[in-house]
Amino acid sequence: MLVLGIESSCDETGVALYDTEHGLLAHQLHTQIAMHAEYGGVVPELASRDHIRRLTPLTQACLHQAGKTFADIDAIAYTQGPGLGGALLAGASFANALAFALNKPIIPVHHLEGHMLSPLLSDDKPDFPFVALLVSGGHTQFMAVKGIGDYTLLGESIDDAAGEAFDKTAKLLGLPYPGGAKLSELARLGHSSSLHFPRPMLHSHDLNMSFSGLKTAVLTAVNKIKAETGCGEALPEQIRHDICREFQNAVVDVLTSKAKQALQQTGYKQLVVAGGVGANWQLRQSLSSLPGVHTFFPPLAYCTDNGAMIAFAGAMHLSSARPTGSFNVRPRWPLSQIVK
Ligand code: ATP
Ligand code: MG
Ligand code: FE
Repeated sequence: MLVLGIESSCDETGVALYDTEHGLLAHQLHTQIAMHAEYGGVVPELASRDHIRRLTPLTQACLHQAGKTFADIDAIAYTQGPGLGGALLAGASFANALAFALNKPIIPVHHLEGHMLSPLLSDDKPDFPFVALLVSGGHTQFMAVKGIGDYTLLGESIDDAAGEAFDKTAKLLGLPYPGGAKLSELARLGHSSSLHFPRPMLHSHDLNMSFSGLKTAVLTAVNKIKAETGCGEALPEQIRHDICREFQNAVVDVLTSKAKQALQQTGYKQLVVAGGVGANWQLRQSLSSLPGVHTFFPPLAYCTDNGAMIAFAGAMHLSSARPTGSFNVRPRWPLSQIVK
């Protein structure tokens, strides 16, 4: 069965074709990062319009890449939520219109389920059950995954997501949007010895986390250093690198400690890391070296938003494919509410 996957929840338009026998046949992505960069963040109206512009050419490119035609598609999966309402509607309308025209069934997919199952797109993939750490721009959660559709929330960030903390901290260090990945590259050049940032909720005895205070700690440190050195707006380069390193150390320490706790609590031996922060080199190093645990990361291309994970999640839910009719999007949609 050939599933077309459509992702448009935020600032990436992703389209992919997943074949239940032969795996991922094609995927195409357009990122709007450059378009939003001059505003320092995602502008929802611009995002929706750009998704509309990109969906048709990306779908055609996908079919071409896979050597398939519209007639070969058996079902269409799309991101129903959570995300930006207008952006979601662009993808949902496209997917449902195409399904109607082709007379094919439709499968609404939860964006975070897509992220969470994305490590299953690798050759080296986990078996059920496993602990999933979803660590993205909007979410930081631990889930116990017993099977497709069988997810239990173990704990989550009570305020900012880790990716959001990376982006906000990058912004206050003067790095261009979106700064998370850039911050992590500068962290390679830093040493943390001269600074210490808090590890929030490290000892909270549950699997909840908090990252918003970390950004405030960075701000306080920056202001202090500026006052002490009289450097004005431009922080000395090495100090900026050191701040990046210690910030990253703090996030990685918390995520690693909570991951250990989640594995202990469930007794599972496999950890799956998904979402954009899963691309972080230090987090990968730290979680890969947990003793007695097999840690899985999606290929880097599938860490951030993409169509492949939606096509794949859709393929896992083929049994719930249904004819298209009226449809909706769900901008706010906790993963725990998925009822199969
Ligand atoms: P959600 O899936 O929760 O709706 P999202 O789709 O915006 O959020 P993703 O696309 O999965 O999130 O990931 C984007 C986030 O990942 C951004 O916050 C970005 O800064 C962060 N990120 C990407 N690369 C890195 C990196 N190397 N180190 C740290 N953070 C990173
Ligand atoms: Mg994105
Ligand atoms: Fe995402």
